[in-house]
Amino acid sequence: MMQTGPHKVVIVGGGAGGLELAAKLGKKFGPQHVFLVDRAGDHIWKPSLHEVAAGTLDIHREGLSYFMLAKDKGFTFIFGEVAHVDRDGRLVQLKPVFSDQDIEIFPARNLHYDTLVLAVGSKSNFFGTPGAAEHAIALDSTQEAERFRLRLLHQLVTANQKKTEHADYVLKIGIVGGGATGVELAAELREACADAVFYGLNSLDPQRDIQITLLEGADRILSALPEKMSVAAQQLLIDRGIQVKTSVRVARVEPDALYDANGARYPIDLCVWAAGIEAPIFLKQLRLQTNRINQLVVDRGLRTEDPAVFALGDCAQVPWDNTTQFLPARAQIAHQQASFLLPEMARRIQGQQSENRNFRFRDYGSLVSVGHSRGVGSLMGVLSGKSWFVEGLLARMMYMSLHLMHHFAILGFARTAALALGRILMKRGAPRVKLH
Ligand SMILES: Cc1cc2nc3c(=O)[nH]c(=O)nc-3n(C[C@H](O)[C@H](O)[C@H](O)COP(=O)(O)OP(=O)(O)OC[C@H]3O[C@@H](n4cnc5c(N)ncnc54)[C@H](O)[C@@H]3O)c2cc1C
Repeated sequence: MMQTGPHKVVIVGGGAGGLELAAKLGKKFGPQHVFLVDRAGDHIWKPSLHEVAAGTLDIHREGLSYFMLAKDKGFTFIFGEVAHVDRDGRLVQLKPVFSDQDIEIFPARNLHYDTLVLAVGSKSNFFGTPGAAEHAIALDSTQEAERFRLRLLHQLVTANQKKTEHADYVLKIGIVGGGATGVELAAELREACADAVFYGLNSLDPQRDIQITLLEGADRILSALPEKMSVAAQQLLIDRGIQVKTSVRVARVEPDALYDANGARYPIDLCVWAAGIEAPIFLKQLRLQTNRINQLVVDRGLRTEDPAVFALGDCAQVPWDNTTQFLPARAQIAHQQASFLLPEMARRIQGQQSENRNFRFRDYGSLVSVGHSRGVGSLMGVLSGKSWFVEGLLARMMYMSLHLMHHFAILGFARTAALALGRILMKRGAPRVKLH
């Protein structure tokens, strides 16, 4: 299609990767060239969602307004959910936006692009397991994480009441999926429940009366990481009183129990599903190659078969350098891919030829937080194939570094520092876990 007016780069999805790209590109070229579309009005750092679910992070203090970021960084923000892309007409089609009273705020709209970058992330994959979507909560959004937190609080108060009445009662929390999200959530919940008890649920003994069970289908947790790390993480979880069950494939979810493929029953009061991911289904309808989990198949330059369409982050299947494997869904990768696409998008805006470069992932290690209390952390990592384990404030700071790097990219140094200081000060006046 002939280009008229300024070249428009439209980025759909303002998450770990898309927002960084929009901010860097917007700063260079301005709002007439750079457009970011997101279905949410606020940006949150998705890897924090397990802390939101546990109540150790207050989401109402975390979100960054896209409208504010757009003004600061020089891109145009379009609020709305993309339903489809008309590649022949080069149009992104947005659904109408309604208020909570069902009043239409924005009608259905079309947005023209010259270059499109799809960065729509992923959501939990229930793998068609009966009852999972109805009875388990997946930590895909702030709303879901907040829904879990409120249910947990409700269940804790109920459990405390039952114990006051001398009933023999144990609150049972099931986590399906022993990847990094499940492991981190289990550790975070153990500490958050103890904190909630500390603030007044006096009839509960957090270790005895709150049972947390992590169920994993593979024969070890953290199966994408070296075995040494799985063994150490499992031991740490067990030391914290968490039950870890491996080689258990959950085949059915009911309101009060999980059932495995052999029919064994695991009673639950609350269930979190963290057993794998899939990209948004609308990607399947774009007449571009996708894989079985709806990710767009791209080459090492993050290009789809359509020269005007790129994809990055969790929604893209990207070859892992010269191996036959594909890159995993990680914030570190989305962050690096945003930096990689920046010069390519700049060339397009300036009407220059592509350099046809390939993305190369630099693995700075995997960090899995296995709990913290009073600012002290325990962290397991793998760097250059070697596993290691760190504890203390250093661990906490290393874990936060990816989040901080993300903030630097979208806010700059001074505002990141001010925000970090503000949050530390706010924490001093707030309980360790959100109680309302
Ligand atoms: C609980 C949890 C803990 C995690 N911990 C870690 C960790 O410790 N380390 C790590 O590396 N990774 C972690 N991850 C994975 C990490 O969050 C993702 O890999 C990363 O966020 C992917 O970035 P992205 O830019 O591809 O997508 P996302 O960050 O998910 O952003 C996608 C954006 O697209 C928007 N969007 C989606 N669909 C549409 C649509 N149709 N129209 C408009 N907008 C849309 C969404 O609102 C969102 O803003 C964790 C994930 C979870 C859930």
